[in-house]
Amino acid sequence: MRLVFIGPPGAGKGTQAAMLSSALGVPHISTGDLFRRHRERRTPLGRDAERYLDAGELVPDSVTVDMVRMRLDEPDARHGFILDGFPRTVPQADGLTLLLDGSGVKLDAVVEFTAPEDVLVDRLLARGRQDDAEDVIRNRQRVYHRDTAPVLAYYADLLVSVDAVGGAEQIADEVLTRLQAEPQAGRHQRHRGN
Ligand code: ADP
Repeated sequence: MRLVFIGPPGAGKGTQAAMLSSALGVPHISTGDLFRRHRERRTPLGRDAERYLDAGELVPDSVTVDMVRMRLDEPDARHGFILDGFPRTVPQADGLTLLLDGSGVKLDAVVEFTAPEDVLVDRLLARGRQDDAEDVIRNRQRVYHRDTAPVLAYYADLLVSVDAVGGAEQIADEVLTRLQAEPQAGRHQRHRGN
């Protein structure tokens, strides 16, 4: 399965991606985690990304797409992946389409996680990551609506929307059920025996 998970900050994409990555046997690739790892290791990419992370702004598309290209070239991603937090802009989605076309593969589904903004902000304040100060959280929500919401239209044909309010296990079950029910996702899933 080749999946993209999209949703506003706090929707629980990362939690769901981790759970479904074990359930489906494909790697969980989070661009936020990749950036944070680069930052911790003080790589040049990490140093470039730092100010964007701290402001809740998006790292430039070319940097982000290059990082994802390298990650998708690793052997564990050859037979599937869950992309969490990427693509977050239409140019990133174009970049991903080019990468996948180059390997002759397609996405099976794009899963959108939805929740009301007050639920999202409460969850993030409770989590307390370095970029979870309230003004940075609000900016990440604003950036989501401005830059990432248009990506949903880009993937209209592959989109599966899931209500992200509730228990993590229950939501993961819902995603698996919906992936089996969607004609596109179901067809690929059966043929690959995943
Ligand atoms: P959240 O979903 O809570 O915002 P993430 O870990 O997905 O958390 O992202 C944290 C930060 O990493 C973002 O605010 C942004 O600076 C950077 N980032 C993550 N993914 C991308 C991306 N696809 N494009 C640009 N920047 C990104």
